[in-house]
Amino acid sequence: MAAIFDLQLLKDRHRIDYLKNLVVRGHEVFESVISGYGHKVEEHPLRIEYVNSQQVNARASSHNGQHLIEIEIAFPLTIDFLIKRICSEARFVPELPIDQTTLQQWRLPFSKCPGQILLDHQLAFQLDNVRFQLSELLMDFCNMFLLFHEIGHICCGHTQGQQAYFNQKACTEFLDWDDWLFRGRYLRRSWEIDADAFAGSVLSQFLEPIMESKKSPDLQRAVDAFGGDCAKITGVLIAALHVMFTYLAANNYALRKRSVHPSPSLRSKLIGNTLIGAVAQRYDVDIESIIDARVEYMAQAMPILEKESLFNWDQFDEAFVKSDDQISVDARLQRRFRNSCRQWSLLPLNIWSAADV
Ligand SMILES: [Zn+2]
Repeated sequence: MAAIFDLQLLKDRHRIDYLKNLVVRGHEVFESVISGYGHKVEEHPLRIEYVNSQQVNARASSHNGQHLIEIEIAFPLTIDFLIKRICSEARFVPELPIDQTTLQQWRLPFSKCPGQILLDHQLAFQLDNVRFQLSELLMDFCNMFLLFHEIGHICCGHTQGQQAYFNQKACTEFLDWDDWLFRGRYLRRSWEIDADAFAGSVLSQFLEPIMESKKSPDLQRAVDAFGGDCAKITGVLIAALHVMFTYLAANNYALRKRSVHPSPSLRSKLIGNTLIGAVAQRYDVDIESIIDARVEYMAQAMPILEKESLFNWDQFDEAFVKSDDQISVDARLQRRFRNSCRQWSLLPLNIWSAADV
């Protein structure tokens, strides 16, 4: 087991407070979900730890009634860096002209492992105040997704299923080839889709505070740049998730790791559908306009990833076209394996519908 990472090592008060706050939100979400389904919070102690590792990985486990989520510290820091890198380019969200008067240099707050693709030659970049706030918003959305996905594995009983079916201690997102189990990959893929559906539905509840954020004038200006347009804000948030999934897939490939997650296109489509449904319902927004905004911001971000060799248009086009068919395949997988972890699940299993959208 990896050692707990001492956040003080980051020496960046803002970043330290943010990462602590993320853990607090994780606990709040876990407690409100399980108590909402009639469980006693004290009977389900949960620890959420950042662990000392330069890998981009996370895992969830449950032993003797205790739940544990371990997030490798490089994960949130890399996502932070990746999103800031995207936001530093004027072609991403061109509605936000770069304000030269508040432009500042930003650097990644840790040294990188030589084996990882971390956009080597772009370790520093410039962001103005408003784009910085936009990057914080998108980064936070991605990190919340990561954490809620792990909480989803616990709430859906996958952490116990992993032991019962595969004799593995934890649900680990990315595995080395040596640890990879070919057996049961469809079952585990159905769990990944369920954990994504869980994360997407919880995230949809965080959209309202974003749309109506008055927390900071710069954040408000970033949101205002979209003309208060909920479709555009939702579109840019989904595009940020897509950037993260694309990075994770490229990183996996480069490090010879494997996972059972759906392709980046499919993941962002499935989760996007959950978010789009929630926004369309709450704000009376036309679904097509959110889908258009999502595609537009993805198309702006992808060339930036391509420049960093993190993205290939041909593979993307093929995966994107196939993903509509794949949604129905995965919905069938989800239904077929829905009861596999029923005995450990803290939620009723008939609530999953994201893949059916
Ligand atoms: Zn997972």
